[in-house]
Amino acid sequence: MSYLKLSGVEKLFGEHRVIKGIDLDIQPGEFVVFVGPSGCGKSTLLRLIAGLEAIDNGSLHLDGRDITHLPSSKRDLAMVFQSYALYPHMSVFENMSFALKLANVDPAIIKEKVDRAAKILNLTNYLERTPKELSGGQRQRVAIGRAIVRAPKVFLFDEPLSNLDAALRGQTRIEIAKLHRDLGATTIYVTHDQVEAMTLADRVVVLRDGNIEQVGTPLELYDRPANQFVAQFIGTPQ
Ligand code: ADP
Ligand code: MG
Repeated sequence: MSYLKLSGVEKLFGEHRVIKGIDLDIQPGEFVVFVGPSGCGKSTLLRLIAGLEAIDNGSLHLDGRDITHLPSSKRDLAMVFQSYALYPHMSVFENMSFALKLANVDPAIIKEKVDRAAKILNLTNYLERTPKELSGGQRQRVAIGRAIVRAPKVFLFDEPLSNLDAALRGQTRIEIAKLHRDLGATTIYVTHDQVEAMTLADRVVVLRDGNIEQVGTPLELYDRPANQFVAQFIGTPQ
């Protein structure tokens, strides 16, 4: 049984059909990477899953429930964007606990959840700092921490590393892989970077112009690219 199921998902912006009938089954605990060139529809597809854009055709099911028309806040998903908008005047602890506070979670439980997330993310000694006292990598970890404390059914990442410099990108990529090993949470991760896709993914979904070109494990894509586009994109020698 698939955990997250996309059936015939379509999105139009005016006349422009940006997502053209996507079918995809994601299993519980899977780390799925959407990869493809700029403008192919990766962010739009993620935003449709998150409920940040309305779907025009097709359906979405999560854990047996039809979420196609549910508002974002009721979908039990957490999204981490490339521009990690933290609240500048709040401490790391307050940033990470904000959503739980809004949901009236008991303060003792909030502290427990934030402490656990901070430990996973190596932020334990930074909880009282404000974002401007952190490095770019630490800020991105706070943004991930905000998602973790909500214990969502699915994590959605949209190019979370693209604002980091090369060294930090590699390090944070390893941390995201470790995080997935520790939490085992179902994750969809968007990138235009082949290396990120091939190193992080259980399965890679190659998108082109609103369609899926191929879905497979990194090895399957590398060994048996379905066509020239995938081969070139993944970097198989011709
Ligand atoms: P990617 O994330 O793969 O770079 P996007 O999903 O951002 O691609 O965009 C896919 C296509 O949809 C692009 O042609 C883009 O210009 C268009 N698009 C994205 N968002 C909007 C919007 N809000 N209104 C109109 N067109 C949009
Ligand atoms: Mg994008």
